[in-house]
Amino acid sequence: MNRGRLDILIVGGGIAGCCAAIALTQNGHRVRIVEKENAWRFQSSGIFVYANGLVSLDKLGLLDDILAAGFPVPGGRNAYFDHTGAAIVETIYPTADGGRIPAILGIRRAEMHRVMTARIAALGVPVQLGTNVRGLEDVAGGVLVDLSDGTQVRTNLVIGADGVRSATRAMIGIDVAPRYTGFGVWRAVHRRPADLTDKIMVMGPAKRFGIMPISDDLLYTFGTLAEPKDHHYEPATWPETMAAKFAEFQGPAARFLADLHAGAEVLYTAVEEVVLPLPWHRGRVLLIGDAAHASTPFMGQGGAMAMQDAVVLAQAIEARETLGEALDVFGAARLPVCQFVQDVSRSVGEAGAREVEGDIEARNAEMRDGAQAKVDGFYGRLAELDAEAEAKLAV
Ligand SMILES: Cc1cc2nc3c(=O)[nH]c(=O)nc-3n(C[C@H](O)[C@H](O)[C@H](O)COP(=O)(O)OP(=O)(O)OC[C@H]3O[C@@H](n4cnc5c(N)ncnc54)[C@H](O)[C@@H]3O)c2cc1C
Repeated sequence: MNRGRLDILIVGGGIAGCCAAIALTQNGHRVRIVEKENAWRFQSSGIFVYANGLVSLDKLGLLDDILAAGFPVPGGRNAYFDHTGAAIVETIYPTADGGRIPAILGIRRAEMHRVMTARIAALGVPVQLGTNVRGLEDVAGGVLVDLSDGTQVRTNLVIGADGVRSATRAMIGIDVAPRYTGFGVWRAVHRRPADLTDKIMVMGPAKRFGIMPISDDLLYTFGTLAEPKDHHYEPATWPETMAAKFAEFQGPAARFLADLHAGAEVLYTAVEEVVLPLPWHRGRVLLIGDAAHASTPFMGQGGAMAMQDAVVLAQAIEARETLGEALDVFGAARLPVCQFVQDVSRSVGEAGAREVEGDIEARNAEMRDGAQAKVDGFYGRLAELDAEAEAKLAV
C-alpha cells in the first residue's frame, strides 16, 4: 500500500508497540504511541531473545545496540542439570545468517526498552505517556479515538499492542479473557560470576530453575512451578518465598538461591495466555503481540513473536493494495507461527508439571538421548513456518 502513508496510533509501548512504531515509521508512516504508564517503567529482570527474534531486531536496525546492551551466550550453549546438581546434557541453539546473528541473547528488560525507546525518539515518534484510550469509533477511512487526556485523534489504523490484558481487545468486542495457565514464575537479578556464561536449566521434579547471563556483570534467575490461581504473595516476601519454593535445588542453583536476601530484586508473575482465532482485527483496529497471542514462557518466545509481528505487519502493509487485505494477510501469516509457539510451550510446561520424583532418572536419560533433537526440531519447524509466512506475504 505505497500509494499513501498512513496515520497510525499504537496503544502500548511494550516490545510489540515499540517495534511496530520503528518498523512503520521507517516505512514512512506517521506513527504515534500512547502508553498508560506515566514513565517508561518496565518490570525488570531479564529476557532472552533467540536468533529468530534477533533477526527481527536486525531488520529494525536495532541488533548492534541490543547486542552491546545484553549478553550473547557463547556458542548458544544451554547446560542442563537436575536438582541434585548432576549434569544431564548440553544443547546448542541455532544461530542465524550463517552465524552472524547469535543463537541466544540475555538482556535486562529495561536495557532492551532503553534501546528501543532511544530509536523511537531518534525517529521523532511522538509518545504520550500516562495516556490510554477511552473510546474508538469507525469513521470513513479511519478511526476516531478518544484519549484519556480528553483529546480526540483521527487515525487510519489503531494497533492494540497493550499486552495480555489488552483494553483494546475488549473495546473492539473480542470477548476472549486471558486464561490462567496454572504456572507462576519467580525471577531475580544477581551479580554474574565471570565464569558463568552459559544458559543453565536446573530440572527439578515439576519445577525448573533457569540461570541466564544478561550483561557483563549481571545474570537473572527464573523459577517456574505450578501455583494456585489468584494466590497473592506480598511483594516484600518475594525473595524469601522464591528461595523457599526452590530450596531443594542444588548444583548451580544453590548459590543464587542463597543470594535471595530481603530487599533482593525479585518479581513474581502468574502466567496467563491468550488464544485468539483470526481475525485479529475489527475494521481498522488490529491486535498484535501479547494482546493477540500471549504465550506461556517455556520456549522464551513471546518477545520474539512480538518483534516478528512488527516486522511482518510493516511488510504486509507495503505488500497489499488495501489496509483490509494487509491486515488479513498479516493474521494469516502470523497465526500459524504464534500458535505453534503457544502449543509447544504449553505442552512443555504441562509435561514438566506432571513429573514426580520417581520420574527423574528416566527423564534425564530421555534428555541425554533426545534434547538436542527437540531443539533442532522446534527451530526447524519454526523456520519452515516463517518461510510459509513470507510466501503468503509475497502472493
Ligand atoms: C514470566 C515471563 C517470562 C518471559 N520470558 C520471556 C523471554 O525470556 N523471552 C521472550 O521472548 N519472551 C518472554 N516472555 C514473553 C514476553 O514478555 C511477552 O511476550 C512480551 O513482553 C509481549 O510484548 P507486548 O508488547 O505484546 O506486551 P507488553 O510487554 O505487556 O507491553 C504492553 C504495553 O502496553 C501498555 N498498556 C497496557 N494497557 C494499556 C492501555 N490500556 N493503554 C495504553 N497502554 C497500555 C503496558 O503498560 C505495556 O507497556 C515472558 C513472559 C513472562 C510472563
